[in-house]
Amino acid sequence: MTNVILLGPPGAGKGTQAKRLEAERGMTQLSTGDMLREARSSGSEMGKLVSAVMDAGGLVTDEIVIGLIREKLEQGGAKGYIFDGFPRTLGQADALGELLSQLGQKLDAVISMQVDDAALVRRITGRFTCGNCGAVYHDETSPTKVPGVCDTCGSTNLTRRSDDNEDALRHRLMEYYKKTSPLIGYYYAKGDLAHVDALASVDEVAIGISAILDGEQAT
Ligand code: ADP
Ligand code: AMP
Repeated sequence: MTNVILLGPPGAGKGTQAKRLEAERGMTQLSTGDMLREARSSGSEMGKLVSAVMDAGGLVTDEIVIGLIREKLEQGGAKGYIFDGFPRTLGQADALGELLSQLGQKLDAVISMQVDDAALVRRITGRFTCGNCGAVYHDETSPTKVPGVCDTCGSTNLTRRSDDNEDALRHRLMEYYKKTSPLIGYYYAKGDLAHVDALASVDEVAIGISAILDGEQAT
């Protein structure tokens, strides 16, 4: 059982690498962003509550996202979890530590994905995803092989996120620097932190992450 947090700003490539880890290692991606988007499209009360905050690029309350993660972890049955976009605050990080220890589990690594802001803007403004299977694409760096058709599942339901615009991204980046980047120090102090150069190609980043998970690189 390997549990890993992919920690990085919006557009760092967390979702892309989480999908690779699912495919290559049979681990389970837990993306609070995906869970919140699902709640929104299902039209649930919680979905309605978080919709405006998400569109503006703000953070949803700790209580809501911790509840979503608790529910998934309590279901159990996974070979290991990839936390993608969670935790995003110190309160969420403390809660995750407590939840894992209650379940007799631990974190194996926290991987800080380092990128610069200019690359993030390019990545976010070119991103589109498959509405059916969640595969992540980019207009320039990883387009679909057949335009308009998902390589993975063949769906033509390719979508762009409503918060992938420059205004919301500016707010999301500010939230990241104010509330999430302190987690780098938090996990460094706990001895769990490793780094990858997330400006490298998708394959190279995947190799870096695998080396960390296989213990080939000192953290
Ligand atoms: P996050 O989950 O961290 O917000 P994504 O995985 O959705 O980021 O990636 C954001 C965008 O950047 C997507 O369009 C994706 O195809 C692209 N991308 C991801 N990793 C890389 C990479 N290493 N090099 C170039 N583009 C990338
Ligand atoms: P993401 O898909 O990770 O980019 O998240 C999209 C949006 O969902 C964020 O901009 C937040 O509004 C919300 N969100 C996702 N995860 C969290 C979290 N852990 N804490 C608070 N808000 C979150």
